[in-house]
Amino acid sequence: METRTFDTSVKPDGERMLRDLRRLREATSDAGGAQRVAWTATWRAAQELLRSELADLPVEIVTDAAGNIWARLPGVRPETVVIGSHLDSVPGGGWLDGAYGVMCALEVLRTLALEPDRPCSVALVDWADEEGARFGRSLFGSAAAAGALDVNEVRHLVDRDGESLGDVVARWGVTLDDLGTARAQLEPVAAYLEAHIEQGPVMERTGTPIAAVSGTAGVERHRLAFTGQTAHSGTTPIDYRHDALVAASRTVLAVRDAASRHHGVGTVGVLHLEPGIPTAVPGEASMTVDLRHLDASSLQAMLTEVLEAAGAAAASEGCELTSQPLFQIEPRLFDSRLVEIVRGVCARLTGTEAMTLPSGALHDATEMAATVPTAMVFTSSSNGLSHTTVEDTPVEHLALGLEAFYQVVTEVVALVGQAGRGLGGGRPGGCAGAGDTEGVP
Ligand SMILES: [Zn+2]
Repeated sequence: METRTFDTSVKPDGERMLRDLRRLREATSDAGGAQRVAWTATWRAAQELLRSELADLPVEIVTDAAGNIWARLPGVRPETVVIGSHLDSVPGGGWLDGAYGVMCALEVLRTLALEPDRPCSVALVDWADEEGARFGRSLFGSAAAAGALDVNEVRHLVDRDGESLGDVVARWGVTLDDLGTARAQLEPVAAYLEAHIEQGPVMERTGTPIAAVSGTAGVERHRLAFTGQTAHSGTTPIDYRHDALVAASRTVLAVRDAASRHHGVGTVGVLHLEPGIPTAVPGEASMTVDLRHLDASSLQAMLTEVLEAAGAAAASEGCELTSQPLFQIEPRLFDSRLVEIVRGVCARLTGTEAMTLPSGALHDATEMAATVPTAMVFTSSSNGLSHTTVEDTPVEHLALGLEAFYQVVTEVVALVGQAGRGLGGGRPGGCAGAGDTEGVP
């Protein structure tokens, strides 16, 4: 069968996508940055803006049980290529994180709506609460759709004002006990594609405007607590001390060393001392360790080395060490066939060899990659900054990213139209949700 080709005179409009992003910024930001925190009135304003644009298209709009918005553009075949990202932001966030991917998907949908007969269906999704800024649970909507959200784990999460997640989302028509029904929107899904800004400095430093993403790094996040002995800072000789901070400090350096050794990243972002006064040897030091790597065995090796170093540091200072896992997610590699398509498009549009880089940040694509062939297109980030009001990307990179995303979507839509659900591809272990029977084992 011949692969369906698209009308090349129909192109996505970069100016219109930028107009959408600027309108969103005006409607949902203040001097401190984007304020589209999920489950707030400002977030609703962002969703309303999206809905009003979708209303002009021949799409069916549905809000699922998890609060995700779907807009489905039917095609010749029912199999669906899902495209999207998230409109929610962190407090004081940037104008592009998440919003760029949603507005790219909107513009792609508009463009595809002009095609007389699309080979398969395409659905835009705006995932609810990707950031987890209010309740600390990231990837809420996409995890629910992937069947990966443990309702009992999130039900009692509370925000800063003591309101529970269950009570707050209920006001948005989300019933936690019905979250599982969000999975129905992914039926019958063939692929998931997401455009996003890099949120890091690698692409800018290498002069790369657009790139393919190999997957999202796995995360091991733990709390380590050292217990020594609080003592007078003037009367306690150095070799009589059980200084919890000295043990913690050696561990901070071990985190950095392990990350460098394994080419991953490791961060101690929180450090609390007790009693925390200038005249006492710290008797308690608790800290968080966040380790990330795209390779599962390297991530495990980093964790083992850090815990061993922490144990040795505690022993040498005569302190007790306790550790508690806070959050863990395994590395999620994207579908190798889809990544190759992204690489091909990037190479064609830039005239140079395509860059492929791992994402250190989690994305909704992380959840999707567990159940459906998934890929992402990255666009550079100015100064590598994100989750701040100064987050930015050169507009020509944003436009090129849209063009790349459109070309990737049309290639995948053509493939799915030709092959049906068995997209094939190379995600290790196959892709259960996609009815994939020919995946590389
Ligand atoms: Zn994001």
